[in-house]
Amino acid sequence: MVVDFKNEPYTDFSKEENRRAFEEALRKVEAELGREYDLIIGGERIKTDRKAQSINPSNIDQVVGIVSQADTALAEKAIQAALKAFETWRRVPPEARARYLFKAAAILRRRKHEFSAWMVYEAGKSWAEADADTAEAIDFMEYYGRQMIKLAERQPLVRIPTEDNEMYYIPLGVGAIIPPWNFPLAIMVGMTTSAIVTGNTVVLKPASTTPVIAAKFMEILEEAGLPAGVVNYVPGSGGEIGDYLVDHPKIRFISFTGSKEVGLRIYERAAKRQPGQLWLKRVIAEMGGKDAIIVDSSADLELAAQGIVVSAFGFSGQKCSACSRAIVLEDVYDQVLELVAEKTKALKVGDVRNPDVFTGPVIDEKAYNKILSYIEIGKSEGRLVVGGGKGEGNGYFIQPTIFADVDPRARIMQEEIFGPVVAFTKAKDFDHALEIANNTEYGLTGSVYSRNRFNLEKAREEFHVGNLYFNRKCTGALVGVHPFGGFNMSGTDSKAGGPDYLLLFTQAKVVSEVL
Ligand code: GLU
Repeated sequence: MVVDFKNEPYTDFSKEENRRAFEEALRKVEAELGREYDLIIGGERIKTDRKAQSINPSNIDQVVGIVSQADTALAEKAIQAALKAFETWRRVPPEARARYLFKAAAILRRRKHEFSAWMVYEAGKSWAEADADTAEAIDFMEYYGRQMIKLAERQPLVRIPTEDNEMYYIPLGVGAIIPPWNFPLAIMVGMTTSAIVTGNTVVLKPASTTPVIAAKFMEILEEAGLPAGVVNYVPGSGGEIGDYLVDHPKIRFISFTGSKEVGLRIYERAAKRQPGQLWLKRVIAEMGGKDAIIVDSSADLELAAQGIVVSAFGFSGQKCSACSRAIVLEDVYDQVLELVAEKTKALKVGDVRNPDVFTGPVIDEKAYNKILSYIEIGKSEGRLVVGGGKGEGNGYFIQPTIFADVDPRARIMQEEIFGPVVAFTKAKDFDHALEIANNTEYGLTGSVYSRNRFNLEKAREEFHVGNLYFNRKCTGALVGVHPFGGFNMSGTDSKAGGPDYLLLFTQAKVVSEVL
């Protein structure tokens, strides 16, 4: 019997002992930078000639790791290894599969700061963001393990006297797991372990910018005793092996988190039946967002301003849940803008090894250039209030940037920037604010700051997003507490960390026996 699920607590870095322990972990990781990482296929470590470097975005001369890259032949080998492992893994009892997750969670908890430190170096996460990422990874394993045990119970059916009827959930087969770099541990772990705890086996293609943290997680799975071939670690280029995996006739499902463009590409390709393919592939896709925070005249403006700053600039706005639009009622607009501007100017930008830094770098050069070009677009679409360009240092630093008086149809109000940029727009009244909030192609998160019960009830009905928050930030969904996923172009609304998520990796079978 397992104890009830409880979210992993965050580390209190105001405590000296915790700060020391984290600094110690940073030193340990720093001493291990630049090592080589192999592919892992069917338990076998494979080096390739082609290698990619993972770079520290806070200090672009620092190599975090050197990672072997798979080609299509190795992707094929990984699929074959996963197919073979599926034959035995699917017969492992659900409770036993759950225990692998509980064991892996326990190991990760013991090595918590070390894993967070890897994300400081490899993803440019601040201490607090990295710590939350590791906590979420632990949560996903603890939660999905328990959910699997529940799912394995006999499902309640209507009974008739002459028959014995039973419904149970069986796995799908071999999945391709294509996780993002922005929660390089949490989401990668959540996507991988949800798929395996339900009895599937997978080919894991880690994000190109964060393959090392995924390799470290493979060490944990091995230590937990997970059989070879259940998770196959296959780093490589999205264009090359990503398409190969998605198109493969033996791939049964694809679990993807990333951009709208890539998500659409996967959805389309997966829809095409390939020669020898027996099933309709299932696609679980979490894509972008263009998330809004509405502030009405009754709101606690100080609280709202804090919420906007944290949601817009936490991890440099590189969350699909990040606030990139602030929609403020006209009578409090100037006040809220001023409060947000003041707080934003006080944010420290720089190398995230420093615990005082709130806004670290963005992930790579491509993101850096894209965000800077959106900032230029913003200069012609609105009034620049704070920021507006590069930050200082030997990394991909961008100043937290605020634009005011932006038309709701402007590009910076419609397109996902995935960087530290927020645009303000004025609404005439609450209905107008909701109309603006709903006028993008996305529908992931949103917040309303208000003390007006009527407005909150209206938003509950009308604000069309998968995760709606009142009087709190629009980032930081907690596993089990806020099942996470969005509408429209934000994806398949597959609620990660929610009670029905595991069903996505199963198919229901009914057996009826006449007595
Ligand atoms: N679950 C995260 C949050 O609530 C966002 C996930 C993402 O950016 O993909 O902030």
